[in-house]
Amino acid sequence: MLNIVVQKYGGSSVADVQKLKTVAQRIIRTKNAGHRVVAVVSAQGDTTDELLAKAKEISQSPPKRELDMLLSTGEQISIALLAMAIAEEGEPVISLTGAQGGICTDSLYTKAKILRVDPVRVRKELDEGKIVIVAGFQGINDMGDITTLGRGGSDTTAVALAAALEADVCEIYTDVDGVYTADPRLVPDARKLDEISHGEMLELASLGAVILQPRAVELAAAWGVNIHVRSSFSDATGTLVKGDDQMEKQRVVSGVTRDMNVVKVMLVDVPDRPGVAHEIFSTLAAEGINVDMIVQTTKQGPVTDLLFTISQDDYDLTKKLIDGVRQKLGISNVLYSDRLAKVSIVGAGMMSNPGVAATMFGVLAENGINIEVISTSEIKVSCLIEKDKVETAVQAIHDRFKLGEEVSIA
Ligand code: ADP
Ligand code: ASP
Ligand code: MG
Repeated sequence: MLNIVVQKYGGSSVADVQKLKTVAQRIIRTKNAGHRVVAVVSAQGDTTDELLAKAKEISQSPPKRELDMLLSTGEQISIALLAMAIAEEGEPVISLTGAQGGICTDSLYTKAKILRVDPVRVRKELDEGKIVIVAGFQGINDMGDITTLGRGGSDTTAVALAAALEADVCEIYTDVDGVYTADPRLVPDARKLDEISHGEMLELASLGAVILQPRAVELAAAWGVNIHVRSSFSDATGTLVKGDDQMEKQRVVSGVTRDMNVVKVMLVDVPDRPGVAHEIFSTLAAEGINVDMIVQTTKQGPVTDLLFTISQDDYDLTKKLIDGVRQKLGISNVLYSDRLAKVSIVGAGMMSNPGVAATMFGVLAENGINIEVISTSEIKVSCLIEKDKVETAVQAIHDRFKLGEEVSIA
């Protein structure tokens, strides 16, 4: 039996007819090299943003089920067009929606989680010698409704399929030729990494490197899927995202990221008694809101201040939910701010190199940048700073840790 390769093509890789044809050629080449190919495709170019804008013309908060119905059409266009381009070359091919591809999710519309993948149909079509094109970003819940997996969700579709099909590799084709030490659009001397561990990649992705959806990396780590991030415009080898190994531990800092999509929420004078934090954060969690940095400050008297960050996309819902618990818990005041952004460094070698965080704080200080909140884990340090200082911060940190230079292995 020929081995299976799962390839995912992002929006920019299928943006127009010429690009679709190029992708079709690459898929056919992969098949001719002796593989069975499953290609997961995103919506063309800015289609998803355009669909979102259309919805906003009608409603500021459209029903999420209907939003998913709308957004999923973007991927349906690209799978059909790509299948046509492949058929035009005389190759047997079939396009499948997420549902047909067996992507079964929960019912959290707009950010549904994959519960399981039943790739029966995919296997059947592969067995018949066809190239199979699957719509990324979408699935089906147990009511038979279309769901979507959150922005960047096609990456997760691809990894889930690669795991379920026990594919040799999951190739993510995009508009850069790999994972860099910083966003190459922001830092011109950013360097491509040959490989990176799942753990570090998960941090980079979660902290703002949009190159991969964090959930895709999480899934890849859990299922032992190796991801090859590479360019759809060249044959150059990209970056291998894989299980941990010793070499990587030597790299103190692997990358620097920024996340502009941050809202700071400050709950002022929260009653200081057991169960309050649980009430607040379980209310948010039940709606799938990811809370990031959390800081509780001690005050005089029976109250505390509670600060946390959420993503901009969750702002409206968070506000509604917090308004709900505020009365009940007796919180005096709630302040929201979107003037901050998060700059982070990630590296497995930090664990054994004290002083990395101090160096980062030093770079920010030298550039006159104030840090509002800090959070750390074994392999990352994040700071909330003024939005308009982020570009300076990323470049300065990249310079100080010499990330643009080849690593010397200690
Ligand atoms: P696609 O449409 O293929 O899914 P995305 O726009 O989602 O592509 O992701 C690719 C983009 O990720 C690149 O164009 C790049 O600007 C950005 N990016 C951010 N951080 C990084 C990084 N550390 N390495 C590479 N690319 C990055
Ligand atoms: N089309 C979706 C988005 O723009 C999914 C994806 O591209 O991965 O977020
Ligand atoms: Mg993407």
